[in-house]
Amino acid sequence: MQQTTIAAISTPHGTGGIAMIRISGPGAIGVSEKLFRARGGKRLGDIVDGEMIIDEAVAFVYRAPKSYTGEDVVELCVHGGMWVAQRVLRLCFQNGAEPAQPGEFTKRAFLNGKMDLSQAQAVMDVVYAQNDTALRAANAARTGAIATAVREIASRLLTQSAHIAAWSDYPDEDLEPVDTGKLAESLRESEALTVKLLATYDQGKILREGVPTAIAGKPNVGKSTLMNLLSGHERSIVTEIPGTTRDIISESVRLGDIVLQLHDTAGLRDTDNPVERIGVERTREQLEQSQLILAVFDNSEPLSSEDRELLQQVSGRNCIAIVNKADLPSRLKLAGAERIVKMSAKTGEGYDGLVRAVTEAVGMADWKLDPGAAIIANERQYRHLFAAKTAIEQAVQTLQNGLTLDAVAVCIDEAHGELLSLTGERVSDVVVDEIFSRFCVGK
Ligand code: GDP
Repeated sequence: MQQTTIAAISTPHGTGGIAMIRISGPGAIGVSEKLFRARGGKRLGDIVDGEMIIDEAVAFVYRAPKSYTGEDVVELCVHGGMWVAQRVLRLCFQNGAEPAQPGEFTKRAFLNGKMDLSQAQAVMDVVYAQNDTALRAANAARTGAIATAVREIASRLLTQSAHIAAWSDYPDEDLEPVDTGKLAESLRESEALTVKLLATYDQGKILREGVPTAIAGKPNVGKSTLMNLLSGHERSIVTEIPGTTRDIISESVRLGDIVLQLHDTAGLRDTDNPVERIGVERTREQLEQSQLILAVFDNSEPLSSEDRELLQQVSGRNCIAIVNKADLPSRLKLAGAERIVKMSAKTGEGYDGLVRAVTEAVGMADWKLDPGAAIIANERQYRHLFAAKTAIEQAVQTLQNGLTLDAVAVCIDEAHGELLSLTGERVSDVVVDEIFSRFCVGK
């Protein structure tokens, strides 16, 4: 339990309908009693500084351990003015509370056992979710999906390790000998579970960061216009990624429930110009790194040699051929592309067809996301899980090489330790501080 009482404004800093000041710690109720005067013992009352009324407020009291942080918590809701909220916060400090560090409320919830690290991190994923699918995944993690999946593997490992330890530590007891065949099988099951969980990382990455997507096509087919349409539609620019090169402009846009990390490329023409050649080379790299290619063609012109080259370049890749300028008379005959969408980037006609094609192309159409499924949510979790997998593999290897069971147990314990680091049951203060420092103040 923390001894200090902390306070922060938990609503965004700005002017709005309501501002909420959250106080947590052993002195939370004491602090609030000094500055909140309830009317007739009700939730509604006034915030006062001596005789001066600062604002009308509603106070919510949560007593330990039944609160977000597990400590006594008071939440004061006042009118949403910046000055008012700051003034109330200052009163909290004057009456004994200390400023909360970024993420400190959630950190306390973790330290007080209200949630494990994966759940605490999921709180931020909920805050930053940009679509329903990402939100569902974040909520599943927040309610413990990752923790449960990881603990299941951890508890299997613990059972195995305990069995080996008992057998080798108490040779005189009449313990059932370790069946190495069964042990190997059980380790492989644990490994399979780990591998399955690891595989969810890529899905999660698509959910949060989007699908790396290249827009390609010869000059003038309408790539920039398409880019503008996509970023302007739904007013959905998620983040602006600064162009990594002069020729490739990138930004994240949302299409339905999918986020695309779009890269407008320079085109693929053969050229003798050294500067252009660098651009073409980068385009090639970009195409190779992309998980989805939007190859743009001009409906108003016959297929050119550059178009053919592009078709060849993208064959076998996850690609949507966009026949753009559908508002103009057609002179294009396009064959050989698996997915073709006819549209006009200028008028927006055909946009829905594009959304459907993209949803199918990235495999989300029949991606029936189990709402409760665990999805590995960040690099930290992935690293620990991967290390656990490697250690389990080593355990199997050690067993197969006929080494002592003690050596096998060392590997199993290592895997188990990695899983505990993931959930935060075995984690250093430095790591915890690092994780929560990325949160916002008041969360
Ligand atoms: P880029 O070189 O591939 O980026 O092509 P731009 O986006 O700059 O477009 C080239 C020209 O085609 C511009 O004059 C656009 O206004 C025009 N354009 C783009 N898309 C369409 C479309 O769907 N219909 C029509 N009629 N013109 C378009």
